[in-house]
Amino acid sequence: MIQLNLRTATREEFLDITGQVAAVLREHGWRSGMVHVFSPHTTAGITINEGADPSVRRDILAALGRLVPHRGDYQHAEGNSDAHIKTSLMGAGAWVPIAEGRLCLGTWQAIYFCEFDGPRQRQVWLHLAT
Ligand code: ZN
Repeated sequence: MIQLNLRTATREEFLDITGQVAAVLREHGWRSGMVHVFSPHTTAGITINEGADPSVRRDILAALGRLVPHRGDYQHAEGNSDAHIKTSLMGAGAWVPIAEGRLCLGTWQAIYFCEFDGPRQRQVWLHLAT
C-alpha cells in the first residue's frame, strides 16, 4: 500500500490527484493490473469525473450542496452530517485499470479527492491488484 498525504485548503473542494496517482505507478513500477484509490475518511471521498473544465467540479459541489444542505434536520452532534452524507454519495474509493504503466482513464476523466469537511490533513491509500 502506498499513502498519499494531502492538505486541503477549504471546507469543500475537489482535488485532482490524477498526477499523484500516475507518479506512484512510475515510482513503484506498477505496470499492469488495477489500482484502487481509497479515502480512509468518513467526510471525504473519491470520484472520477471531468478533469478539463473546472466548472464541472464547481457544478457537482453546488448540486451536492442543494441536495444536502450544511444545516438541516440532522442528529449527529459534530455538525458535519452533510459531509458524511456527501461522502457516502461519492463513495470511499475507485478502481482504475493500468496498462503499460499508465492509468487507463478516458480523455476527459480525472481522479478527484472530494473534501467535504476541510481544511484538513488527509490521506489516500493506493493498492495494486494484479
Ligand atoms: Zn461527524
